[in-house]
Amino acid sequence: MQLKILSRSENENFARNAVAAFVLPLNPTLSELSDIKTAVSEAVTNCIVHAYPGTEDWITLDCETDANTLHITVSDSGKGIEDLAQALTPFYTSLPGEERSGMGFTIMQTFMTGFSVTSAPGKGTTVKMSKTLGAKAGTDAR
Ligand code: ATP
Ligand code: MG
Repeated sequence: MQLKILSRSENENFARNAVAAFVLPLNPTLSELSDIKTAVSEAVTNCIVHAYPGTEDWITLDCETDANTLHITVSDSGKGIEDLAQALTPFYTSLPGEERSGMGFTIMQTFMTGFSVTSAPGKGTTVKMSKTLGAKAGTDAR
């Protein structure tokens, strides 16, 4: 699936539900579905708030499944990130005092199986995430 949305706040809900619908054939648990929706929501919100502040532009989501793993790429061609290590630090936000807690990347990392970010200042940011279903540590769910 490839989904292209404008960076409007109402599209964040659409994007996370579209990805949830896409992964349904893999028979996710409610908890896995909730993790995926939360991670997509954080990634898309970052594009809206940080990549394209005060303007509207395109966000692209690429999704594919491979056996029991969902792969998601969220990319923008916006502002980019100067210092990636700093951006990935829990509680770091470049917008303090705007109800941001600086936990978006940390949430994506925690809720998903795989996570990586590449970014070029002035060119954009790409977040790659994966979620392997039925892979809860210590259990043999399926
Ligand atoms: P929260 O997600 O808790 O509301 P936040 O968005 O500031 O706060 P993170 O999602 O962890 O926290 O992102 C950390 C920082 O990385 C942001 O403050 C911002 O500076 C930068 N950032 C994240 N995503 C992007 C993006 N797509 N484009 C440009 N900068 C980004
Ligand atoms: Mg964020």
